[in-house]
Amino acid sequence: MKKIILIFLSCAVLIIGGLLGNAYLKKETVELSYPAFLEAIDERQVVKVVLQENKNTIQVTLKESPEVVHLVPNPHTEDFTEFLLLNGITVDYGQDSGIVTFGKLVLVIVIVGGMVWFIRKGNSSSNLIINANKKKKKEDLITLSRVAGNAEAKSMVLDVIEFIKNPEKYSSVGARMPRGLLFYGPPGTGKTLMAKAIAGEANVPFYAMSGSDFVQMYVGVGASRVRSLFQKAKKNERAVIFIDEIDAIGKKRARSVSASNDERDQTLNALLTEMSGFHDNSGIIVIGATNRLDTLDEALLRPGRFDRQIEIGLPDINARKHILSLYASKKPLSDDVDLDALAKSTVYFSGAMLENLLNEAAIITANEKQSIIRKEHIDKAFYTVIAGAPKMDRSYITNKDRKITAYHEAGHALATTLLLPDHYISKVTIIPSVRGAGGFNLSIPKDTMFQSRTQLLANIQVLLAGRIAEELIFGPEEITTGASNDIQKASSYIVDYINKFGMDPDMGLFNIEVLEEGLDTKLIERCRSLMNELYTRTKALLKSNLQSLENITSELLERESLTGEDIECICSANKSNR
Ligand code: ADP
Ligand code: ZN
Repeated sequence: MKKIILIFLSCAVLIIGGLLGNAYLKKETVELSYPAFLEAIDERQVVKVVLQENKNTIQVTLKESPEVVHLVPNPHTEDFTEFLLLNGITVDYGQDSGIVTFGKLVLVIVIVGGMVWFIRKGNSSSNLIINANKKKKKEDLITLSRVAGNAEAKSMVLDVIEFIKNPEKYSSVGARMPRGLLFYGPPGTGKTLMAKAIAGEANVPFYAMSGSDFVQMYVGVGASRVRSLFQKAKKNERAVIFIDEIDAIGKKRARSVSASNDERDQTLNALLTEMSGFHDNSGIIVIGATNRLDTLDEALLRPGRFDRQIEIGLPDINARKHILSLYASKKPLSDDVDLDALAKSTVYFSGAMLENLLNEAAIITANEKQSIIRKEHIDKAFYTVIAGAPKMDRSYITNKDRKITAYHEAGHALATTLLLPDHYISKVTIIPSVRGAGGFNLSIPKDTMFQSRTQLLANIQVLLAGRIAEELIFGPEEITTGASNDIQKASSYIVDYINKFGMDPDMGLFNIEVLEEGLDTKLIERCRSLMNELYTRTKALLKSNLQSLENITSELLERESLTGEDIECICSANKSNR
């Protein structure tokens, strides 16, 4: 190993010597920070970049001072060259002097030799790691401005970025910064993006792996992968280590002891050991991401570990608008596309789905050999994104099925307008999807901190209204399996209503889950009877608004999808007719 280090050192000397002798000492050099460089690109100031992969700086020529060479940290990104070319910048790969070429040659020989040596040693697991990292290590040009919405989360990482840049600033006043951040929230909401942005803002390397990469069949492999990952990162002094799906390693330990958890425990222990092994002033931050916080082992959440937990949630309407305009800005959109309206109708969409929506729309546009994305393209893409590709051949769907779906969805929609007037109905549709859903209702709840008892019950009633509409129109013998999801949701709501929120007067304020068994026949009985009560009540409600139900259904059958305004129009027309 010593030999190799020696050879490396002499190579470095050769290369540096070669470079010093080379052209660029002749010119005046000035250092330029990476953000300033990006700004210069924005301002179209950058004329030329000399880019040599093995160097830590790139040489930049600016329009206003062509005689000066600006040295900017090399981001070593895969798409960097393309990025420069797209911005109309001349890219030069540098003229190697003879010495440099010689140095490179030696370097190649050494690297190849080193690899052979590594393989010879037969340490196959660390080989794997190196490959995994090579593939995944990616310092992108991503900054916080590329992350839309999530204002709270952003504000919670600002000091972490500052800490990575300048750890001494914090350690000198005795501040202990979090070693780890934990991002939690639904998939596609930008957790990975945010982690990359932190690395980008701090201008440090980004190492990413997924928890599932660690947990392997053989005991000990995961742990050794964790150690290798940290070893690599530590060489940089400052870095962001990102572990996606951290729940794969850090799941709560099952109560029953089983041998099959050995591997996961060892991996988890290795991770915890590595994290507690940092000095307080080392600028390395570990970021874990998970879709569910509740399943994580508490050991991971203790101080000195992932002790800052940050929620990355689904985007609200403003954030959706922001994300849409972010991605729309790179695409030719027709004037009939209203991003405000689109943001309104994409409730519960994640950032990834919004990005995907515009991308699908662009694909559809291209398939139709058109050059501008129009509203109809986005409408088509909407269904692809939300429910998988729409069924190409709808002819097999019997008229009866279409009718049942229409009444079912109309039932949900009608109950929403009647019981939850504050909700904004975004979309009601009977367009079938390959995933099996007959149709769907999308409505936006009012943004409040608490839900009242009336609202909780109304939510359950809305869920029941689909089945009720079927029963009212086609009779109890003809009800379908289409309500299974609704029933499942309604059931869990009703348990929460009684057990978690203590809102049922008969059952009082006791939460049965604090007892080990957690099974209470009285609770189950009460859930059933309350559900039946709500069913009867909602049935009466729909019955007295039958005309609206009929009208919504026929509109749905004709137009396949309706907006909240459409529904409101239909209902108020019936009201005034009475
Ligand atoms: P997660 O890690 O939470 O599953 P990702 O960060 O992988 O989500 O998001 C996938 C993609 O979706 C991103 O690369 C980006 O294109 C888009 N995206 C998601 N959330 C946002 C956001 N808040 N702002 C901008 N783009 C986003
Ligand atoms: Zn339903």
